[in-house]
Amino acid sequence: MNAEMTYKKKPSWLRMPTMGSEEAAKVRSILRKYSLDTVCRQAKCPNLGHCFQRGTATFLILGNRCTRSCRYCAIEHSEGTLDPPDANEPGRIAEASAEMNLRYVVITSVTRDDLRDGGAGHFAGTVEAVRRKIPGVRIEVLTPDFQGSEDALRTIANSEPDVFNHNLETVERLFPDIRPEASYGMSLDVIELYGRLSPSTPRKSGLMLGLGETEKEIIIALKNLRESGVTMLTLGQYLQPSRLHWPVDRYLTPDEFEAWRDEALTMGFVSVASGPLVRSSFHADENFVMGAKKS
Ligand code: SF4
Repeated sequence: MNAEMTYKKKPSWLRMPTMGSEEAAKVRSILRKYSLDTVCRQAKCPNLGHCFQRGTATFLILGNRCTRSCRYCAIEHSEGTLDPPDANEPGRIAEASAEMNLRYVVITSVTRDDLRDGGAGHFAGTVEAVRRKIPGVRIEVLTPDFQGSEDALRTIANSEPDVFNHNLETVERLFPDIRPEASYGMSLDVIELYGRLSPSTPRKSGLMLGLGETEKEIIIALKNLRESGVTMLTLGQYLQPSRLHWPVDRYLTPDEFEAWRDEALTMGFVSVASGPLVRSSFHADENFVMGAKKS
């Protein structure tokens, strides 16, 4: 497929006003001060200005190059050897979180298939460092699939994050094209296994829409997520990061996202954030409160 031909013009509802507020500038300077990266910047998230203005950010650990190359992702892929985890990174994230007065911290990472534990130990160390620094803080981890490793998931569970998030991202039929190194079944198994390791921790997942999936396939994916124990859901519009990435099939309207939100709530999800600009950790703090109230 020639991506050039299919680079679709964005509809009005996807145009985010640029936010250059004092708060956003403060977040940027804190991230620079502690040499920290965010998925917000690396994945070209359209909400960066908005979230920075809210004083929030999603920390990206384990470097900014990934061992995988999902066709929708703006994060740089690496064939070569990657740097070992930075032992000081957990402490720096804890310091930055405190300086940003965060009460809800989201930690995510690239996929590190080159590491024996996939980086699970570094994730756990970061959760523990943030919790030591900010007692009572809520922590959400948005993790890779750790190639389905039970040991890696147990390491994460033992650090007791408040929310376990693993994105399914798309429907089963599109996995071979869009997430060639991942597996639909493995992602569902990871979510289910985490529930067995930590039954009281809410599980969250998300789908990008507009990649070429059908409505029937979305319903099946939502059913599979409910069966694997997911209660918190995000649904957002896929945006093509560059002409070399998987093309947008179509832009869903805000009304369609609203309809999917209603559909998901009738399927038993307790917290559903659904909208063109919704991303995994968009207003994650509010979604957590919504989910906690209903569970
Ligand atoms: S595994 Fe994650 S970070 Fe890596 S390419 Fe895929 S979506 Fe991007």
